[in-house]
Amino acid sequence: MDESAWAKLKRAAVEARANAYAPYSGFAVGAAVLSKSGRVFTGCNVENASYGATICAERAALAAAVASGDRELLALVIVSGAKRPTPPCGICRQCLAEHGPTLAIRSHAGDAQADYELNSLFPEAFGRSHLD
Ligand SMILES: [Zn+2]
Repeated sequence: MDESAWAKLKRAAVEARANAYAPYSGFAVGAAVLSKSGRVFTGCNVENASYGATICAERAALAAAVASGDRELLALVIVSGAKRPTPPCGICRQCLAEHGPTLAIRSHAGDAQADYELNSLFPEAFGRSHLD
């Protein structure tokens, strides 16, 4: 993926982060995914007083893509205010693996960035074939 495509995803994730609902952790996160059809979908973390009901930005973006009919994801950008770039959490890795097993991931925190591949972060993912 070229740098202009990554930059476009980053801008979308930054915009989404501005809408993060994180009154409990104060940890605002934005995410943007690029689907196989070329569309971009965004999400932010949405916390809840029942902490376990919280949804991460990455899964919110994934849900937006699927709700719009795009089920295959190629790339994900995460933007947070952490001291260093953050990879997706375990639950998000599981959800992302269903729709983008070879997903390219870039995470930003301030001026720092980190690149990951989902299949390296989450090898041997549990998937549909395990249900047979
Ligand atoms: Zn997560």
